[in-house]
Amino acid sequence: MSSHQREFLCKVLVVGDLGVGKTSIIQRYVHNIYSQCYRATIGVDFALKILNWDQDTVVRLQLWDIAGQERFGHMTRLYYREAVGALVVCDMGREATLQSVERWKEDLDSKVCLQNGRPIPVILLRNKCDQLPAGSRTRNLKEMGKELGFSDCHLTSAKENVNIDEAISCLIKEIIAND
Ligand code: GDP
Ligand code: MG
Repeated sequence: MSSHQREFLCKVLVVGDLGVGKTSIIQRYVHNIYSQCYRATIGVDFALKILNWDQDTVVRLQLWDIAGQERFGHMTRLYYREAVGALVVCDMGREATLQSVERWKEDLDSKVCLQNGRPIPVILLRNKCDQLPAGSRTRNLKEMGKELGFSDCHLTSAKENVNIDEAISCLIKEIIAND
């Protein structure tokens, strides 16, 4: 790393109901792997990915997985501490997980904020889009996200590697802009 480069350490939380694909998204993004096996019991706390973002910027991205704690409904303040961004994930095929999205967003906003007091950027991922029946209506996606206070909203598939990189890049852009 040359002396003019700046380094960002980014703690990003990945939250959402059990089984929506949080661990799969992280595994896909960091290791480019995907497995059908249900990984709920593997308690990986966080994964690190180092990105040469641009000529001047290195991003050390820590993705925090809430493996196994979804069922308690909410996380502790300590866990959220110093996070600079978050992904809230839901499963397109399970309406109940979409209903929970608002609750996860509120939980984040009540427990963590930026140093200037503003909310951290949070992006909504509607995962498992590979399971969408052809011709499904996905309009109003962005509007829905904005209404709920998300910076952005993306349809993703960890299985088929759709939009994962794009969505996380969007979040990193916001994080860097906030610095
Ligand atoms: P988590 O509990 O939120 O961490 O969810 P997991 O990552 O463990 O995924 C739960 C289940 O959904 C697993 O069987 C995954 O293989 C499956 N899954 C995850 N992402 C996708 C996806 O994009 N498409 C499909 N079809 N299945 C997925
Ligand atoms: Mg998991």
